[in-house]
Amino acid sequence: MRFLYTLLDIFRPDQVVNDLWDIDFRDLIKKGITYFIVDLDGTLANKGSYEIDPRAIQALDTTLNPNKIKGVCILSNLVYSSKKREIRLIKISKQLGADRVAAYWPNTKPEPGPYEQAMELMGSSYLNTAVIGDQLLTDIKGGNSLGLHTILVKALPGSDHPITISKRLIEKWLLKKLGINFPKKP
Ligand SMILES: [Mg+2]
Repeated sequence: MRFLYTLLDIFRPDQVVNDLWDIDFRDLIKKGITYFIVDLDGTLANKGSYEIDPRAIQALDTTLNPNKIKGVCILSNLVYSSKKREIRLIKISKQLGADRVAAYWPNTKPEPGPYEQAMELMGSSYLNTAVIGDQLLTDIKGGNSLGLHTILVKALPGSDHPITISKRLIEKWLLKKLGINFPKKP
């Protein structure tokens, strides 16, 4: 059993929050984490949607800069080439003033390539970069394998993931096995 838990540890996020804007950025910055690789679908916006919660925009804004965030890069698994999805990623990253990486199969999350590309774009390192995402199997596993700080957010309500039902079930099972609970909302 112990062995299983050791194996599963690669999926364990360093932090768990309900929403991106619940992250204590000030605290992370104090610890030297100033660059953020952020997932798109289910984390920033619902699948297909261009709408980002203003609270997320404000939290990640590098120009407002109350938090001294130095860089943000949206990293999205597009898997296959799709003009519509590419344009959406470009528009959203522009809206946030963020860099972007579109990951295509087989170089998709959780493979290290797209994370390294994101860090290169931002000019960040393994020591000052965190990953924010809603999936343990992709966002968190990839970040953990590179030794980055990982933050799990609850998938946005109503977000329709491009993942199969079986993948959803695995995510649920993992959350349970790892004893991960999202903070109770007051
Ligand atoms: Mg996602």
